[in-house]
Amino acid sequence: MVILAIGGVGRPVRALDPGEDETWVTVEQLERVLDAVTGREDVRLTFDDGNSSDVEIALPRLVERDLTAEFFPLAGRIGQRGFIDAAGLRRLVEAGMSIGSHGWEHHDWRRLDGRLARRELEAAPKLLAELSGKPVQAYAPPFGAYDRRLLSRLRRSGATRVYTTEGGLASRDGWLQPRTELRHDVDQEWIDAVLGERDGLYRRAGRFLSRVARLAQI
Ligand SMILES: [Zn+2]
Repeated sequence: MVILAIGGVGRPVRALDPGEDETWVTVEQLERVLDAVTGREDVRLTFDDGNSSDVEIALPRLVERDLTAEFFPLAGRIGQRGFIDAAGLRRLVEAGMSIGSHGWEHHDWRRLDGRLARRELEAAPKLLAELSGKPVQAYAPPFGAYDRRLLSRLRRSGATRVYTTEGGLASRDGWLQPRTELRHDVDQEWIDAVLGERDGLYRRAGRFLSRVARLAQI
């Protein structure tokens, strides 16, 4: 299956981190992607960073299409300008979405000392669980950055799933799940290339049918 990693949507209402604009998409781009994945069991959706667009833009469009997604907010930014607040987090859960942890700030989890590691890997999921009312056991390391040490630490702490960003196909029940990032230049060609299996089949079927039609005319 394909797992998409989505960042912010629409116009940012806060200053973005350097390079972060690469992962922002327009409302129209998001809608095209959501339309392409509606009804597909082989595609999963995740949203990183906990931008306020998760609740304001993505949530209603997911609900409208009967889609669910897993959200990975930053615990330390809950309630800050441009990010979801506690009420938004609960709205996501009430609408059937799941919550995982993206940490407290936006640190590379491979380079954490003791105190910082506890905040990023323990305090963050704990706060997210308290605020959302659900256990938080899935993790999406910022920047998709991980190493063996981090993975064994997450395993020991009971992580049920860890999402990365190297793209490609994911196995349905894998513990380490590669995701494909939505980037600012996503267009129909990208959608066809990444999510196009079904369209590809349709296209092949279409070619076959037109050949049959041509033969029938002879
Ligand atoms: Zn992030």
